[in-house]
Order: sequence, then C-alpha cells, then structure tokens
Amino acid sequence: FQVPSAYNEPVKSYAPGTPEREEVLKQYNDYYNGTVEVPLYIGSDQIKTGNTRPMSPPHEHQHVVGHYHLAEKKHVEEAISNCLESRSAWANLPWEQRAAIFLKAAELLAGPYRAKINAATMMAQSKTIHQAEIDAACEFIDFLRFNVEFMSQIYAEQPESSDGIWNRVEYRPLEGFVYAITPFNFTAIAGNLPASAAMMGNVVIWKPSDSQVFSAKVIIDVFKEAGLPDGVINVVFGDPVMVTETVLSSPDFSGLHFTGSTFVFKELWKQIGTNIHTYKTYPRIVGETGGKDFIVAHPSANPKQVATAIVRGAFELQGQKCSAASRVYLPKSIANEILDLVKADVASINKPGSPADMSNFVTAVIHEGSFDKLASYIDQAKKDDEVEIIAGGGYDKSVGYFIEPTVILTKDPKYTTMCTELFGPVVTIYVYDDKDWAETLKLVDGTSEYALTGAVLATDRYAIEEASKALQDCAGNFYINDKPTGAVVGQQPFGGARASGTNDKAGSAQNLLRWVSPRLIKETF
Ligand code: GLU
Repeated sequence: FQVPSAYNEPVKSYAPGTPEREEVLKQYNDYYNGTVEVPLYIGSDQIKTGNTRPMSPPHEHQHVVGHYHLAEKKHVEEAISNCLESRSAWANLPWEQRAAIFLKAAELLAGPYRAKINAATMMAQSKTIHQAEIDAACEFIDFLRFNVEFMSQIYAEQPESSDGIWNRVEYRPLEGFVYAITPFNFTAIAGNLPASAAMMGNVVIWKPSDSQVFSAKVIIDVFKEAGLPDGVINVVFGDPVMVTETVLSSPDFSGLHFTGSTFVFKELWKQIGTNIHTYKTYPRIVGETGGKDFIVAHPSANPKQVATAIVRGAFELQGQKCSAASRVYLPKSIANEILDLVKADVASINKPGSPADMSNFVTAVIHEGSFDKLASYIDQAKKDDEVEIIAGGGYDKSVGYFIEPTVILTKDPKYTTMCTELFGPVVTIYVYDDKDWAETLKLVDGTSEYALTGAVLATDRYAIEEASKALQDCAGNFYINDKPTGAVVGQQPFGGARASGTNDKAGSAQNLLRWVSPRLIKETF
C-alpha cells in the first residue's frame, strides 16, 4: 500500500483578528473557568480512583482547573493485564488499519481538536500560543504523518529471493508491552512516545508527566476518537516509583520509550538490568535525556545572527527544552556588539506573564521545584566574583513561577552554569580570545557530559569545517548558522548521544525499528 505523502503541518499565525486566535482564547477561558477530571484509562474503563491531585497552571499556581486520579499498584497491574489481553488482536491487525487510526488522529488534531490541544498545552505547560501551536499541533501532527510514511517504508523493505526460494520478513511487534514515560515540556513528545510504539503493533502502558496531565487527557481523547481500540494505550498517573517498579517487575515488559532526565533514565536502566533474568525478551531501551547545548561563534560570524540564536535558543519555552542553548562562546572581537544586541532583545521580552496574554514571550517555568532550583543558581551567580548578571536575574513566585530571562557573563569557562543542565531561562556566556578558536572548540567538546545539540556560527568555511570536525561527537543535532533548537519532524530527526540519550532519532524509521522484532521466513519450493 502507498500511504498518503507526509507533509509538515502549516503553522497558523494567531494574529489579532484571526478566527484561530478567538477560538483558542475561548477554549483557554473555558478550561480556565471550568474543571476537568482526568481518570486512568485502562482497557475500556475510565477509572476514578478517588485519590486525586489538583491541576493548576504554572503561571497561576493557586488557581485549580481540575483534578486527576492516581493509580494504586492494583490499577497498574490491571493496566498490564489489559495491555496483554489486547495484544494479539492489535498485533495481528494489518498495518494499514493501524496507520489509518493515526492518520485520522493527525486530521483531528489539525482540525476539530487544534484549539483544545493548544489551549490545554498553554494551561498545563504555560506555553505561549505560538509555542503551543509549533509543539502540540504541528509537531505532533508531523510525528503521526511522517511515522506512518516511515512505517510503510519499513514494511516494504524485503530481502532478496532467488530461484525456488522466497525470503520474506514479517515485522512483528515486540513480544510483551512497551512502557512509555513522557516529559512535560512537549505535548508532541508525550503523544509520540506511546503512539510510535503502538503504530508498530505494540501495546503500551503510558505514564505522562504529572505536570502535563491536562494535555495528556486531550491526547488520549484524540486517539480514542480516531478509533484506537481499548487496551492498546493504557494511561496511568501516580507515584512514579510505584508505577515504574510495578511495570518493570512484569516478565512481559519488553521496551522502554523514555524522554526525561538523565538521572531517571540511568536509574531505569539499572532497574531493568537488575530484573533482566525475569524478562521473556531483552527489553528495548530508547531514551532521550538531558542536554547542555552550546552556541559557539567564530570571529567571522554575523553578530545579529548570533544574538538572535542566543535569545531564541535560550529563552523560547523558558529554556525548558533539552535542546535549549545554555552555554555560549563568543570571540572577543565581536563580543561587545553581540552582548549589546542580546541585552536589547532581552529587555524587550523581560516581562514574564500568563500565556493568556498573547503579547508575552516568556511565561512561567513548570513548577516550584524548578523555580527554586533556578532561583538558587541565580542567587549564587549574584554572589560569585567570576560572573556578572548582564540581563534579567529577577524572579517572583507569588502568582506564577516567573523567572526573568537571565544572561550570565563568566570569566571561567567551567563555571557551574556552563556545565550543569538548568532547564530554565538562564544562559551563560564566555568570551574567548580570537586567537584561541581551536582551543575553544576543545573546550566546547570537553565541558559537558551531554551531546544533544549545538550550533556554530561563522561565515568562514574553514572555520565551519574545523568546528564540524572538532565537535562531531558532542551534538546529535548540529546546526550551522542557526539556533540549536526547533528540529522539524521529517527534516531534522532529533536525538543525541553521550548522557543525552540512545540517539534513536525521534521522527525517523530508525526509531520505529526499535519497536519491531522481525521474523525472517524462508520458503523453499
Ligand atoms: N525537539 C526539540 C527541539 O529541537 C527539543 C525536544 C526536547 O526538549 O526534548 O528543540
């Protein structure tokens, strides 16, 4: 079968006066003034356990917009048995029938659910409408459409046969179930991790982030409305330690699809290792974790382009992207010009506020834990002699978890905030002597345990080539003359190595192949 050709969903503008702006604001206000109850989704049941937690927007943490129900161990066990009961029918459904469900989900998101998924993402994750549109609508739709195309290519890939022999491959799903643990920062990732495994015929237990339940509910509603059969994706909320221990102690656990912190991923890997003798198969482990992503500018770079890359790379989505620019290396000859441009740009966006006010570029960070951690790094920077805060530095959590976009200038290239992932709107800049370009590239490579994204800005082709070579292992996504964020599905498959993950590029056939266990059939005539 030939599937419809995938294409990137066009981004809507939400300019004043447009119908999409009115619609999303109305939906946001309905959510804001209403109350949503989110059950567990297990098989055909929506379970209200009665043990609930409130949901509040990060930009207004005293305002409750709903509640979600928490699982006990018995619910997680029920989810696992529901998964396994649904497995055979789902795994044996012809792939084009599975594909059709996810293509329909893409169309629902592009049309009737667009305002809902965007408003839910604004509410749950404090994203501006523009960030929500790029993530929850466009990137999510793109994941679904492109993965269906990749899936069809995978199934079409067959070995050579010869006279009297017919070789063929059956791309079976994994034997067991897949566990998807998803992060708060991207609705698209939250939807894609369970969907990409399910698309390939797997059944899934999905544990969304506690900070993203509101948009997780819209995702599962969309999948259900698109015709996803009961039991294929089961959603559980609850104590992550209990949920994970229960899931990983099942002998049928056969794969982990994870996006989140490096620490948690390593702990999960350890736990899977400890249980390895109890599993029926070797579980597939796929994870995208942290980043300490860099921008390095060469003296030949265009200063305006560097300044834009810094401000957009560091502060979009309050820096809460694994890919966010958080350490920057500028050459002395053009540093002052770039810093002046950065300060001017930051001054124009330095009023964090609610995403319901569409003029805000910066909103709230996700929760109090994140706010407190960021505030403590900023306080420390205010005390340390080797650094100076040249923009921002303010914070206030009285209404929402607001941190001003903050720029730290350091004399020490190994200062804490040059090395530690902060996951917030804080960027640290180091100025190097122009003649030290080659040493600076070594410094970029040697400063961080991560290898997710990075950018070089230069017009000199020799310099671009030098950077490209010197930095070949320290960024899974390497950008030339651009910011290190904003990978587009179908164009820049995304993922990194070292402590940043298994680099099984999200939005690629390579990722989908992790969710199949091929059976080779040789028939002789
Ligand atoms: N794909 C996103 C980007 O290119 C980042 C994903 C993440 O933060 O996990 O900016």
